[in-house]
Amino acid sequence: MHPLALQPRPSANDPGGSIAPRAELIERFDVAGPRYTSYPTADRFVEAFDASSLDQWLGQRAALGWHQPLSVYVHVPFCASVCYYCACNKIVTKDRDRGRAYVEDLMREVEIYGERLGRREPVSQMHFGGGTPTFLDGATLQSVIDGLERVFAFTPQAERSIEVDPRTVDVARLRELHGQRFNRLSFGVQDFDGDVQAAVHRVQSTEQVFELTRAAREIGFESVNVDLIHGLPRQSEATFRKTLETLVELRPDRVAVYGYAHLPERFKPQRRIHTVELPPARDKLAMMRLAIQMLTENGYVYIGMDHFALPDDALAVAQRRGMLHRNFMGYTTQPDCDMLGLGVSAIGRMGPSYAQNFRTLDEYSDAVRAGRLPIHRGYELSRDDMLRRSAIMSIMCSGEVSFAALETSFLIDTKLAFSEEIGRLREFQDLGLVRIDQDGIAVTAQGRYFVRAIAMVFDRYLRAQMQRGSYSRVL
Ligand code: SF4
Repeated sequence: MHPLALQPRPSANDPGGSIAPRAELIERFDVAGPRYTSYPTADRFVEAFDASSLDQWLGQRAALGWHQPLSVYVHVPFCASVCYYCACNKIVTKDRDRGRAYVEDLMREVEIYGERLGRREPVSQMHFGGGTPTFLDGATLQSVIDGLERVFAFTPQAERSIEVDPRTVDVARLRELHGQRFNRLSFGVQDFDGDVQAAVHRVQSTEQVFELTRAAREIGFESVNVDLIHGLPRQSEATFRKTLETLVELRPDRVAVYGYAHLPERFKPQRRIHTVELPPARDKLAMMRLAIQMLTENGYVYIGMDHFALPDDALAVAQRRGMLHRNFMGYTTQPDCDMLGLGVSAIGRMGPSYAQNFRTLDEYSDAVRAGRLPIHRGYELSRDDMLRRSAIMSIMCSGEVSFAALETSFLIDTKLAFSEEIGRLREFQDLGLVRIDQDGIAVTAQGRYFVRAIAMVFDRYLRAQMQRGSYSRVL
């Protein structure tokens, strides 16, 4: 790791090595930008990459007899009620039978992968996301796990995580999830303030979240994450401070503080949010700054972008060791590996390719019932894409680009290949956000809050996208 990378130390523009970023920098770099859970980003995927393209890559993996464990993401698209800020691919229904029917298709997809891979491949990471995974009742969820364990060999230390809407579970359900060998939970809380909760149609009591978090610890979950959102209607710096105080008291192992992007023309539920109740941009930025300040002052380590963790959490440990990675699940301790995206709209990665499933239940269901992989679109990376992916992921995870490492991996003159990008990064250097020398590029203490903006410099597809204004904001 470069000695300057992601270390909170003083710099010329940040003499005190202060923890929260300067307000004017937040304002300046609060521009549209992708989250880089992949590069190229999913909006570059093409339909020319289809089920047969993925079949070929699966065949290659099977032929090589790789033993590198897989990561598996399972998407459960159902929610019993809609949250007005939602930008996810979900189906709002109270009909639990739809969940059971969906799981039958999901199992068909798992079987198809099993056939293509030709043997019980090891799995070291599994994540259930949604939607609301706990929309599925215990028995239905168990049938998914049984199906996965039949086809794949989970490693003894496998990370098994699930997103939990606190409104949908009680302590008994948490016990059941632990019995199903989930070892990590992620609670979607968003805000503890009752008024804010009412404005976004997601009401849950603080007591309930405390009770569940306490129970999760007693039961033995290894890590509990809590998601918050800033920029929601009826939020102010004062209300968000109280929410953060409550969060600090709750003390989950991991915290994510996402920024709300109001795009009602794209996401229908957001049309129910009253624009006049949204906090002004300046207040939204102040909330993010406050979150960084309060969380780091209370012992949390800043992991990157919107993520924080307690110092002994695996993510913080991996960051200290320079072993942090990033995939479609966000920051992770799992090394770069092939990933299967299961379920409607899920995205996976196989070798130098990405593939995304159909976004509608009908198309997804038709494909798996016909014995086909339900691939809607995907992407095969060129050598240039892979080089840029390495640089972008390195900035996002370890806050550095080592010229020598890229030279060794790609047999290129890195400084020459990235001469334009290095030129564009001079502006960041002048602001004290990066340091460029003969060894590489290192993100400074202040720069670490803007890794997304720094990574964007390496994204060759971005310019046209930015002109269309189709990304959420950087912070
Ligand atoms: S935010 Fe989550 S729980 Fe709420 S509607 Fe969207 S997917 Fe469902």
